Amino acid sequence: MRQENQYSPWLIAQKQLEKVDQYLHVDKNILARLKNPDRVLKVYLPVKMDNGEVKVFEGFRSQHNNARGPYKGGIRFHQNVSEDEVKALSMWMTWKCAVANIPFGGGKGGVIVNTKELSQGELERLSRSYIDAISPIIGENIDVPAPDVHTNPQIMSWMIDEYMKVTGKREFGVLTGKPQNLWGSAGRTQATGRGGVFVLDSLLKELNMVAKDTTIAIQGLGNVGYWFAKLAYDEGYKIIALSDSKGGIFNEQGLDPEKVLEFKNKTGSVINFPGSKNISNSELLELKVDILVPAAIEEVINEGNANNIKAKAVIEMANGPVTPEADEILSKRGIISVPDILANSGGVTVSYFEWAQDKAGYFWSEEEVNQKLKKIMVDAFNNVWSIAKDKNINLRISAYILAVSRVVEAMKLRG
Ligand code: NAD
Repeated sequence: MRQENQYSPWLIAQKQLEKVDQYLHVDKNILARLKNPDRVLKVYLPVKMDNGEVKVFEGFRSQHNNARGPYKGGIRFHQNVSEDEVKALSMWMTWKCAVANIPFGGGKGGVIVNTKELSQGELERLSRSYIDAISPIIGENIDVPAPDVHTNPQIMSWMIDEYMKVTGKREFGVLTGKPQNLWGSAGRTQATGRGGVFVLDSLLKELNMVAKDTTIAIQGLGNVGYWFAKLAYDEGYKIIALSDSKGGIFNEQGLDPEKVLEFKNKTGSVINFPGSKNISNSELLELKVDILVPAAIEEVINEGNANNIKAKAVIEMANGPVTPEADEILSKRGIISVPDILANSGGVTVSYFEWAQDKAGYFWSEEEVNQKLKKIMVDAFNNVWSIAKDKNINLRISAYILAVSRVVEAMKLRG
């Protein structure tokens, strides 16, 4: 989530598009369309609270572009959600789906709410109310939402039930990130972290490095950070620092992510993990490691600390962890940054698999999912890497060139 007094994500998203246009020289009518979402729906959601009063929450669904397929993107429940944030996230989804070359456009939804203040019953009623309100503009072939910050498979289950009641349509593919027992996909929980590790392996090959000699620091031990850490550890990488919102830990000899998570689940934080030294989140970012993985929140690498980053490469597993200013500083300093729209696209890719399985009514094993995920991530990385080499540009601009040109081409073909 964005912190106070920082850049508007919508401004960042538009700036990034303008920067890519310097290389692509997109037709100005197409660019004008891409600079804005196709549609933003604003909804007011009446929810009966446990005390009998009705409280009205504000929510949004932004549909940025559907030239390559149905709009796709999560639903965020958070007190900092804003129309600007949802619009930016929907644009990033357009690029993310295009980099991965999956048949979706970009969308995103959100409700301004602190879920910690709701009972389970209130959360269920809010989830149903939101899906009621946006049901006229979503559908298996129209717009396919999924979980995001503070929404989860249980919320998707309430939402799909409500969608079916309101519309009478039996479309399990209208929402992804469902529990497997309601036709979610095998491997979805691990997908974003796993996809990131496929990207890490591909990067290492290019840099002629080997896993066992590669040190990694990871910020954030949530779904993405944990699975990235665990799967990289299982492959022999040396994880020397981990953190959560309360602080971080460091051990030169390496940390076992599974043990750290066990400790965090018991004590509420990674800090004071036996045998390690406590460090702050800012110290973690500035450690001398081979690979730095921000996997928590936005804008953690910014003008203030970009000159102190000592990693050889950054793998952006969070959305928007590097500001545009920091991106330029890192580039000038020769630090590789694998952009979020490539590095964390494993999640939406397995969401695509879930949608495809739901539509076919035929379900794959986890091995099959992982194999197909690997092919998509490795192809995406290789495409982005070779454009960057050819044009002598950084990986972010290269990923944007690949994504924007695919979307523009689809728009041109459709006339
Ligand atoms: P999560 O809520 O499971 O985990 C977030 C982690 O970050 C937690 O460990 C939390 O303690 C930590 N954290 C929070 N504030 C922090 C701070 N100020 N400093 C350090 N750590 C902090 O979330 P997640 O699903 O793992 O998502 C993490 C990031 O990855 C987000 O930016 C999200 O948008 C992005 N992402 C997630 C997915 C997915 O499939 N879950 C897919 C693509 C991108």
